[in-house]
Amino acid sequence: MQPVAHPSAPTTASARAHNFSAGPGALPTAVLEAARAELPVFGDLGTSVLEISHRSPTYTEIAASARTHLRALLGLGDDWHILFLQGGASQQFYQVPLNFLRADASADYLDTGTWSAKAVKEALRCGGVNVVASSKDENYSYIPARDSWELDPEAAYFHITSNNTIFGTQLHDEPDVDMPLVCDASSDFLSRHLDLDKYGLIYAGAQKNIGPAGVTVVLVKDAFLQTRKDDVATMLDYGTHAAKLFHTPPVFAVYLVEKVLAWLQEQGGIDGIAEVNARKAAKLYGAIDATDFYRGTVHPDARSEMNVCFRLPSDDLEATFLADAATHGLVALKGHRSVGGIRASIYNAVEEASVDALVAFMREFEQTNG
Ligand code: PMP
Repeated sequence: MQPVAHPSAPTTASARAHNFSAGPGALPTAVLEAARAELPVFGDLGTSVLEISHRSPTYTEIAASARTHLRALLGLGDDWHILFLQGGASQQFYQVPLNFLRADASADYLDTGTWSAKAVKEALRCGGVNVVASSKDENYSYIPARDSWELDPEAAYFHITSNNTIFGTQLHDEPDVDMPLVCDASSDFLSRHLDLDKYGLIYAGAQKNIGPAGVTVVLVKDAFLQTRKDDVATMLDYGTHAAKLFHTPPVFAVYLVEKVLAWLQEQGGIDGIAEVNARKAAKLYGAIDATDFYRGTVHPDARSEMNVCFRLPSDDLEATFLADAATHGLVALKGHRSVGGIRASIYNAVEEASVDALVAFMREFEQTNG
């Protein structure tokens, strides 16, 4: 194996590619530059932020500021706890049922893709699972219609995946159900408004829409938190982290999340970014629909505004498309192996100019190869 190459010369913002990575995804250039300006010395600390105690005033302020931004962006009241955990969204697949699903109880799950199927697998370790509906029969290319869901009125909670990163589908309506929603919002968190009244808990790995890998944001409503089991291992008990700073959090990841949240507020908050996100997605789906050369892989009413998946007429053309795109500075467009083809992830930090560049490239590629 080759050793990792470490570039020695500083690169400039203009050298940055149009990055459509599914995750870890693009971060705002301004955030990266601000972080660079604070390395290796943060303010008058005499050290960088990577080298300070998580109980220092500086980190305490950073974490408080991140929480303040989140509260403002989402309208979270004091009845919501904001936790910065580790273990990724994958740990949440187990931590949620470990806290909230008793052995003699059952929870509802909507199976809309690989990640929800993984969540079901972990929940089964704790209690009963009722899969209310699944779109597995058509390789998760649609969201099962609301009237096909077989909900259990006694369910402890209803777990949904708001956006299916691999397959490029998204729930466009937040379900109206009697039990609290638990949502894996990893790949569309803070891309649009949430109707908080419907939720008990929302979790999101930061590395797509709100920061780097290494921190998972968990929002949990206090009333829901109080329904948890009382015999959960300390580190996996949400109550531990809601009560105090129990252990060393991922300081640098939280620091970057704080900067992304501040940046998001500068973009006009959720209203502002949601408008841009809708426009970016409309442009890209418009380019796909404009011709038979490109074919979207999901049912139009389930299309994601975050992960746009499409195919070309052949595997060979797809390989050429990816190679040519890279020479135009359009990177990380390869679809997940379970769908194939192309996937353009257009998270909050992917600029509209990147989508414009991709659309222009798609037109040009079809003219040459169609
Ligand atoms: N849920 C969704 C919707 C995801 O997209 C991912 C990661 N791609 C995960 C869960 C798993 O996240 P992590 O790798 O942070 O455990």
